[in-house]
Amino acid sequence: MTENLVYRLGQNCELEDIEVGKTYEVKVQGFAKFGTFVYLNNRIKGLIHISNVKTDHKEGDTLYVYVKNIRDNGNIDLEEVRAPSDFEIKTVSRKAVPLRLCDLKNKVGRNVMLDVEVAQIKQTSGPTIFTLVDETGSENAAAFTEAGKRSYPEVELGDMVSVSGEVMMRNGQLQIEVSHMEVLTEEEKEIVRKRIAEATEERAKPKDMPFLIESEVLDRLKPEMQKVAQIIRKAIFTNQPIVLRHHADADGIVAAVSVEKAILALIRDEGGDMDTESHLFKRAPSKAPFYEIEDVTRDLDFALRDNVRFGQKLPLILMMDNGSTEEDEPSYKVAKIYDLPIVVVDHHHPDESTDQYLVAHVNPYHVGGDFGVTAGMLGAELARMIHPGIEKEIMHFPAVAAVGDRSEAPERAKYLELVADKYTEDECKDIALALDYEQFWLRFNDGKEIIKDILNINGNEDRHRRLVKLLVSEANAAIEDQLKASMPHVKDTKLQNGAHLFTIDVEIFAHRFTFPPPGKTSGEIHDILCKRNEGKPVVTLGLGPDFAVIRSRGVLMNIPKMVREMRDDIEGGGVSGGGHLVVGSIKFVEGMKDVVVDELVRKIGEFPVE
Ligand code: MN
Repeated sequence: MTENLVYRLGQNCELEDIEVGKTYEVKVQGFAKFGTFVYLNNRIKGLIHISNVKTDHKEGDTLYVYVKNIRDNGNIDLEEVRAPSDFEIKTVSRKAVPLRLCDLKNKVGRNVMLDVEVAQIKQTSGPTIFTLVDETGSENAAAFTEAGKRSYPEVELGDMVSVSGEVMMRNGQLQIEVSHMEVLTEEEKEIVRKRIAEATEERAKPKDMPFLIESEVLDRLKPEMQKVAQIIRKAIFTNQPIVLRHHADADGIVAAVSVEKAILALIRDEGGDMDTESHLFKRAPSKAPFYEIEDVTRDLDFALRDNVRFGQKLPLILMMDNGSTEEDEPSYKVAKIYDLPIVVVDHHHPDESTDQYLVAHVNPYHVGGDFGVTAGMLGAELARMIHPGIEKEIMHFPAVAAVGDRSEAPERAKYLELVADKYTEDECKDIALALDYEQFWLRFNDGKEIIKDILNINGNEDRHRRLVKLLVSEANAAIEDQLKASMPHVKDTKLQNGAHLFTIDVEIFAHRFTFPPPGKTSGEIHDILCKRNEGKPVVTLGLGPDFAVIRSRGVLMNIPKMVREMRDDIEGGGVSGGGHLVVGSIKFVEGMKDVVVDELVRKIGEFPVE
């Protein structure tokens, strides 16, 4: 009976659904010198060579063909046959395993059909470029109606579509030349959306692996870090841009560059090039130790432009060495209006109220740790979760972060030990100082390649050494210069709790608008005074016209709490600020300087000493 079966290829069928040795019903499409072209379905064509044509026919006629061969290039050789008498027609439907984007590399030159999500729509001066994603990756599809005219205007960013077309290679990149694109029905959409979302979620899960060092705090942070890694990986897999905001100091830079490396490596793995990188990832240092309105405004402005101009999704905001405190909330509120998801990896003392704005929040204070587990340590470990392949290159980053942020946690020694054969503690300190110094001159720029040289990940060790040496000697000369001017003006008093209070007016007794800035100047002065007062509690205040920098040792302070109380208690003081528990800063209005500073000194004198 099988001889009496004739197959009709379903419209959704692929080349794979056609079997050699079977008979199919086809329609004549056109004629060539060497034979007759026929359609097996709307998209798949085959050739009956002239030697295998048996009857006369015209365009649109129905014929029956025997499949002799399917060549590697996808060409189908057919032989015309007479319809068997008393035959039965059987419609072939698409095989159960549908095509995925990762399969396209084996389909060059062939017609394909897939159900995918539209992750970007970019109108060029020629075709419209759709970036498609599914659970296996992302590829571009080009559709052309007229130069510069949007094809398939009904298809929108985030739609689930069925795409048909030929797979081509363009400049070494796969691309589908679209012959048909259609938004899926509500019912189909949900099935595809669920399929892609679930599989992407699974694929984005980071591999479970041990940290570079043993640390109880890190162990307890692991679930939340894995969550952040998964969110970042998922953003990359779904073509969502990432904006990485970080504190502009050595610890923040190290944290951010670790994650930057991992993200770019993953984008590359996904077939992205330099162009993709610059559209999908941006690292930006923040001058303030929090997400300023100025920063979020800039980020939002760029994101919305890219959304309109390049049809890009709105970004994921990743905050590093910043983001845990109340000071960030005004910016988070702006981001929330546009539904920008925000993820924070920070080691500043966190405020509970910020969590309502965050998708995930890694902070050692959440698990009984403190600022000694620095953002740079967290960043390097997080980067390994995002892309384990980058581990070797960034191995020394946490040690640089540890000395840069003066960590006194047990993790500091372990990270230093980890790279002791390549970098001494002093070398790590030099790198940290060089980062701080260079970032001062870079201001709002990320200084991508220079920073890589300072961190010795550009593959030019000689240049790295010479650059760090130069920057360190310049930075030290500048610091020395500053201290020479400032130190004679330091005032020494005693607080009621017995601590030494040193005050220095950094506005009138320090060089302005140069390195070291007021915070660093105060820190350097504090270090000298700590050495001079070995074993005693010391507080140093660097005073400006409308701010004070607070450095302390041996006093059990809570700067964020103190600043908040003063904000509420001093009417017309315009008080704001924060930072770490024992290192931070406070801002106020200039006319209230005396009132605010007096109250600040009184409050510091009330904290117990160690
Ligand atoms: Mn830090």
